[in-house]
Amino acid sequence: MDFHDLLGGFVRIHILHHAAEGEVYGQWMIEELARHGYRISPGTLYPMLQAMEARGYLTSHEDSDGRLGRRRKIYTATDEGRRGLAVARERLRELTGEVSHKHETTPSKTPSETGGDVHDTQDED
Ligand SMILES: [Zn+2]
Repeated sequence: MDFHDLLGGFVRIHILHHAAEGEVYGQWMIEELARHGYRISPGTLYPMLQAMEARGYLTSHEDSDGRLGRRRKIYTATDEGRRGLAVARERLRELTGEVSHKHETTPSKTPSETGGDVHDTQDED
């Protein structure tokens, strides 16, 4: 994948998004990411899925592929993964607003004008 070091976070968020909606597996995820313009190889995706499981964002179970009769790993998001996704979604919305518009670079807005929480140093978990 081009710009892997930059885009890896987007890919992980994308994986979490689909794993929070339902079950995903490696080959499906590769095709889904390709549809969104990410060319990612199994050699990159599978270690990424395993790392996200090790980190506690995903959980997996083995399931048999009906046609081929072999086992494959099915992933779904954990509660921790869903919490991470919720935070990422907020950050993404904020980032999208900033990077997708060519606007004045001077940050002149106060938190209340941007709808931000003034007390956002406290965790709301
Ligand atoms: Zn998608």
